[in-house]
Amino acid sequence: MTQVIDGKRISAEIKDELREKVTQYKEQGITIKLAVIQVGNDPASSVYVNNKKKACAYIGIESLAYELPEETTEQVLLDLIAELNAREDVNGILVQMPLPKHMDEQKVIEAIDKDKDVDGFHPMNVGALSIGRKGFVSCTPFGIIQLLKRSGIEIRGKECVVVGRSNIVGKPMAMLLLRENGTVTICHSATKDLKEVTKRADILVVAIGKPKFITAEYVKEGAVVIDVGIHRNENNKLCGDVDYDSVAPKTSAITPVPGGVGPMTIAMLMYNCVNSVEI
Ligand code: NDP
Repeated sequence: MTQVIDGKRISAEIKDELREKVTQYKEQGITIKLAVIQVGNDPASSVYVNNKKKACAYIGIESLAYELPEETTEQVLLDLIAELNAREDVNGILVQMPLPKHMDEQKVIEAIDKDKDVDGFHPMNVGALSIGRKGFVSCTPFGIIQLLKRSGIEIRGKECVVVGRSNIVGKPMAMLLLRENGTVTICHSATKDLKEVTKRADILVVAIGKPKFITAEYVKEGAVVIDVGIHRNENNKLCGDVDYDSVAPKTSAITPVPGGVGPMTIAMLMYNCVNSVEI
């Protein structure tokens, strides 16, 4: 029987735990504040930002919203970040990506105080993950570890294959699986015979950015398959990087799209905000 990993349920469970923790913090006089900066009004970014604000309200995190016009200069954004870095009452700073083309995203990420970088994108936090130090971890891969653990899936000693090596998903995913004692292989566009590698996986994480790319012939019988992709098909329906209908019957566990990895990203962003108090 295939276990369908329920990201909605697990993310709700995490948010409830965080809500409880925030209530306890409030009793000790500690409040948590997240600054959310959006530049321009890209509709998808507005949806993400609103969902983040809603999650903050549910958990009891105060959110400070900054909506800057598209033509804002990079310097104005950097000055705002510097001001928020200096504010003792602000625990986390989130700049919604992508930024307008005239801005250097990496420069903006590096301007955020690493101890307020709740997205886990700052090179110091990326480095901390690599060498096993405390720091913020990129939310989507961090959420995938939670999905696996809370679904009773053991990572230790397993053959883990990650397809994709982006800075926000593939690479941190590989580091996290390694931290959990998996044996990890990373695949990318220059990987020779991808199928041969993915078929070795006990745990296959797919973050390739191509709709329904991974079909049944890429998957070993009984594997656990985690689908990070999000796409809208021609009928406006959501689908992932995995061809769910052909792959699911072969797996022991799989994440659906929607309702798998997607809801975990915001839950782990909230986790990072709440835990910023201890960093
Ligand atoms: P990127 O486009 O940054 O990275 C895609 C990766 O896939 C690259 O490393 C690329 O290799 C690799 N790749 C592309 N084609 C092939 C191929 N034919 N064979 C093997 N590897 C290949 O994507 P992201 O990591 O940002 O995102 C991946 C997917 O996850 C997207 O669908 C995105 O929308 C979704 N996503 C979902 C999130 C969520 O919350 N659920 C959060 C973030 C992303 P190379 O490096 O060689 O180019």
